[in-house]
Amino acid sequence: MHILVINCGSSSVKAAILHPETRARVARLKAERLGTDRASVRIQHMDGARTEALGPVDAPEALRVLLPAFLEAATVKVVAVGHRVVHGGERFTTPIAITDEVVEALKGLTPLAPLHNPANLAGIRSARDLLPDVPHVAIFDTAFHSTLPRRARTYALPTALAEKHGARRYGFHGPSHAWSSRQAALHLGRDLRDLRVITCHLGNGASACAVEYGRSIETSMGMTPLEGLVMGTRSGSVDPGLLLRVMREEGWGPARMDQVLNRESGLLGLSGVGRDLRDIEERSANGNESCRLALQVFTHRLRKYIGAYAAVMGGVDAIVFTGGIGENSALVRHRTLQRLDFLGARLSESENRSAQVDLHHVVAPIHAQDSTVALLVVACDEEAELARGVRMVLREQAAVQAPRTIPIAVSARHIHLTQEAVDILFGAGHTLTPYKPLSQPGQFACEEKLTVVGPRRSIEGVRVLGPTRPACQIEVSRTDEFFLGIDAPVRDSGDVKHSAGCTLIGPVGRLALTEGVICARRHIHMRPEDAERFGVEDRDVVEVAVNSAGRDLVFGDVLVRVSLKYALEMHLDTDEANAAEIVRGHEGSLVETGATALLRCRKTVFDTA
Ligand code: AMP
Repeated sequence: MHILVINCGSSSVKAAILHPETRARVARLKAERLGTDRASVRIQHMDGARTEALGPVDAPEALRVLLPAFLEAATVKVVAVGHRVVHGGERFTTPIAITDEVVEALKGLTPLAPLHNPANLAGIRSARDLLPDVPHVAIFDTAFHSTLPRRARTYALPTALAEKHGARRYGFHGPSHAWSSRQAALHLGRDLRDLRVITCHLGNGASACAVEYGRSIETSMGMTPLEGLVMGTRSGSVDPGLLLRVMREEGWGPARMDQVLNRESGLLGLSGVGRDLRDIEERSANGNESCRLALQVFTHRLRKYIGAYAAVMGGVDAIVFTGGIGENSALVRHRTLQRLDFLGARLSESENRSAQVDLHHVVAPIHAQDSTVALLVVACDEEAELARGVRMVLREQAAVQAPRTIPIAVSARHIHLTQEAVDILFGAGHTLTPYKPLSQPGQFACEEKLTVVGPRRSIEGVRVLGPTRPACQIEVSRTDEFFLGIDAPVRDSGDVKHSAGCTLIGPVGRLALTEGVICARRHIHMRPEDAERFGVEDRDVVEVAVNSAGRDLVFGDVLVRVSLKYALEMHLDTDEANAAEIVRGHEGSLVETGATALLRCRKTVFDTA
């Protein structure tokens, strides 16, 4: 099973044929400077490589001309094609099979990425014409960042203006951040969902990303790929007031400003010698002041983002360097990581100098033995990530299309306690008294109730659920949060680290908690046989359509949890249930409502294959 992946840009085309599991490449093609008289293509097959000059063809035409012979010489059967698409807007947050309808929708996204999306679309058109009988899949640069919380994706502009222009932060380089964070977790032998990782993709384009427990929650590129870090020819973040002033005083229109910010700034603009970091490093070593400054600005900006992202996540477990500069420049890594030992990040100078990665040796650790933060160099493999997206869609298409209904239970606000907390709140040696069993085996609602005190107000009579657990956890709805004055994160049950605090008051004592209050992430409990029937795996994130009597609703970001201990059931909180007009039963317990949900489609998949 081999997959063709294509990245069709405005002046370049890259393609590769690879096996999605072994990642072994059968063939590669790279055409550059298309549309100029210096256009050339390099083609690599198992039996060798050749470089040829090309005529004056544009990128889609080059694909049309080169692809048939490229595929034929590869001598393997291509079962599907993956296309890199820069902008998926708000609609495309996961890889998707390309249909005529999808193509039309992508055309509508052109204003969001006027340079990139038309080129990507032209590549799709050429490849679909040449390979009409295999599935084509679009994989989006923006998709990995679709989990950015509202606070991170919102610009502080007047709301009406922002809405009119669709002004929000999207983030880019998704395949690279997804790939490198997953490789970091694999290398560390940890589950990505237990890690806070900062990934730094440093190439001609550069961006950093805070990957908190598997999800992108901050990234340095914004509405366009211009925001954030210093890049080869792009400025990264600049005071917007300065731009207004330059435009006013120079009499420049948007086109000139665009040219300066995107093509004449960054390492090129600062160094005055070019965008290639190798040249800049060499000249800097020879005393060139502009090149020294270029390196200082580049690494200072990056260090600033790393510090900020560690603050946003409340800590960091791994910092990852990838992309042409991240993988190759020991100097950039050294300078960036200076003064980060307050985070526990300590570089091993010798490991840093000798680090080498490639497609076979994907990860090189560069931290000192006493570093509490893993520092890793990861070989960027966006092709493998594109192939992975294709495989996901193929698997989804093959999943059994059986009836997929799921009973729904509504979870009112409730409290889980440790035995120590029970002792403090209800008296030493107190045992929780079962009031009634819950639908998940072994779980029960208790007679005991507590008052939850927030900074603003309190809620009395919040039911405790049993049995006791290793950590206290208070699950509230968003409405409860507003009432209490608490800002609780959306979390999986059991994941309370760095969540919000509150005070609990019981009949005997009171307990101040520094963490424990969460807004539970909606989820489905199921047994392995249900998972097989639905074509999902533990930790998949799916969409669920609720057909209620009043207001049908589709819930995204629903986590699948598979265990032999579970009974099939989707859990919503009261806000979610009210929004879909699902009737709620007894307060303080999980109640079967009789409403059913339909599992619609597989969304983000956190598999580690
Ligand atoms: P990319 O866009 O990922 O291909 O990265 C291109 C950037 O990587 C260019 O700025 C190159 O100068 C830089 N780069 C590649 N190799 C090295 C190296 N050995 N040392 C420093 N920078 C490098």
